[in-house]
Amino acid sequence: MKDYYAILNIPPDAEEETIKKSYRELVKQYHPDLNKNTPDTAKKMTEVNEAYETLSDPEKRRRYDALRQGGVSYGDSGGMPDFGGFDFGEGMGTIFEDFFDVFRGRSTTSQARPAYNRGADIEVSVEVALKDVLTGVNKQISVERLENCDTCKGKGTKSESGVSTCSNCKGTGYVQSETRTPFGVMFRTTTCPTCQGEGKQIKNPCQNCKGTGTEYKRRQINVEIPAGIEDGMRIRLSDEGHKGKRGGTKGDLYIRVNIKSNPLFTRQGKDLINIIQIPYYTAILGGEISVNSLEGPKKLNIRRGTQHKEVYTIKGNGLPDLKSTKRGDLKVVIEVNIPKNISSDEEKLLKEITRQKNEADSGPWWKV
Ligand SMILES: [Zn+2]
Ligand SMILES: [Zn+2]
Repeated sequence: MKDYYAILNIPPDAEEETIKKSYRELVKQYHPDLNKNTPDTAKKMTEVNEAYETLSDPEKRRRYDALRQGGVSYGDSGGMPDFGGFDFGEGMGTIFEDFFDVFRGRSTTSQARPAYNRGADIEVSVEVALKDVLTGVNKQISVERLENCDTCKGKGTKSESGVSTCSNCKGTGYVQSETRTPFGVMFRTTTCPTCQGEGKQIKNPCQNCKGTGTEYKRRQINVEIPAGIEDGMRIRLSDEGHKGKRGGTKGDLYIRVNIKSNPLFTRQGKDLINIIQIPYYTAILGGEISVNSLEGPKKLNIRRGTQHKEVYTIKGNGLPDLKSTKRGDLKVVIEVNIPKNISSDEEKLLKEITRQKNEADSGPWWKV
């Protein structure tokens, strides 16, 4: 067993403050930049961290002291001096952050650890009709995702004793490597390749999940699509993604909403655009017509002398706003229909109108 007190240069009855002070001094002493030609520095630093991790935690220190003084055990280790029971995994992130904070003002490792046990996110697409944007809609989505393995209840191992501290990183989840460069030796702390940063190894993996603690299951999930949603928006359902390995946390489920195109309407933000053709005589004389809205036909009064491409606005008949209850408008674009073929009666009447106009205006270009 390593003598953590010797490693930290402190007496066995050292107070918390002394431990902390000594640790800080050692960290400075083994600072990579000051020890360019000392390849042992990384190893030494790992030892110092390990010692500090144990002695700075009252509970861990108590257990360490007990073991050091002759095999007395505490807690649930069942009478056997079980050094492997020390959980170095917890709190190591903090130690390394402290360590790097001292020299660089920021941590380079804080991102490295938590990733291993968070499940991946899932993204699925769902199609909704334009009409659903008006009211909102509840959709059921089928998702195949990783969940806890039924056989091992997510533990990944056949028995409780099948989990042991990783021998490569001694449970820290990190390994230090050094690279020689023209500027000296560079030190890098990386995720342990043996345990992928978990700090634990599985001795007796569950047959069903091969030790991952997860298996695929198909689920039907209900999602509420809010009124006013826009094409391509994503809805996040927290913790509905894949389950992380061996009791890890869950990822998120993203629902990407695609809005089906509608033959009658074009969407412009909250407004709906509807193009409608009217006969030329209605454009000239005016009159009531029927137009489509998402809620059925609507009456629209066409003014006399309405021009081709003129736009009529029917207020509040567009789509709702995602954040408020205010609705957009329905914009009706008028297209005047000029017929290619007309009946002989219609032709006679139009010629009569033309004749009368010619007499009134006397412009030579009106003559037919
Ligand atoms: Zn399993
Ligand atoms: Zn490891």
